[in-house]
Amino acid sequence: MKFFRRLRPALDIDPHTWSTARCATPWIQALDPVRQARLQSLTARLLHDKTITPVAGLVLDDAQRVQLAALCCLPLLEFGAEGLHGWSQLIVYPDAFRAQRSHIDAAGVMHEWDDALIGEAWESGPVILSWADVLSDCASPREGFCVAVHEIAHKIDALDGALDGTPPLPRDWQREWARDFQSAYDAFCRAVDAGDVIKIDSYAAESPEEFFAVCSEYHFSLPALLDAAMPTVAAHLQRFYGPSPFLLSNEDYLRL
Ligand SMILES: [Zn+2]
Repeated sequence: MKFFRRLRPALDIDPHTWSTARCATPWIQALDPVRQARLQSLTARLLHDKTITPVAGLVLDDAQRVQLAALCCLPLLEFGAEGLHGWSQLIVYPDAFRAQRSHIDAAGVMHEWDDALIGEAWESGPVILSWADVLSDCASPREGFCVAVHEIAHKIDALDGALDGTPPLPRDWQREWARDFQSAYDAFCRAVDAGDVIKIDSYAAESPEEFFAVCSEYHFSLPALLDAAMPTVAAHLQRFYGPSPFLLSNEDYLRL
């Protein structure tokens, strides 16, 4: 009888590299040790399974790759590594990048234009990020923005085959989620249309999937504001992503 053992893939991150990435990433620093260890193993999984491709002259060292991978894994702390399915490449531009768009209108006329983007997630393709914006998120982590979280929220949303603002969830929870997000989204769109002063980025009114992705950024970067503005959405996200690393008491928030 022949015994053999399949070579196990290396899923460790060099401790020094992890510590450098951790120092550069406030979200990792703010996690408790248990979730930090979980994030580290998810990060190793991403680095093993996917290619990170810097383009347009950008060069990334090992710690910067770990930093990017860790930010992409933040939304998966509760969901787990299954959330990484469905894509294989992370493309990183030095700065905002241009994407060509086209649309054929009702009269059959083709319109083409350029969009400047800081992140993009194709439904079954790569995740694309602007490195300058990732760095700016890390420099000001409590302002409601985290482009890596935004794009990965789209990827998780698309896992069930429908990019609609509802990720794959157990059936009962999915029903509650769809109902609560729809009513919060409708109320948000009404407030934007009425010109009300709203503190959440109005880009969330673009579509239910953008609403989910933008609220996910607030969960990680300004949870107290999200909770004050939309407590039901905040509660779903807290259950889905786990407590925000920046969860502050209301007193802390008022002192900001
Ligand atoms: Zn988006």
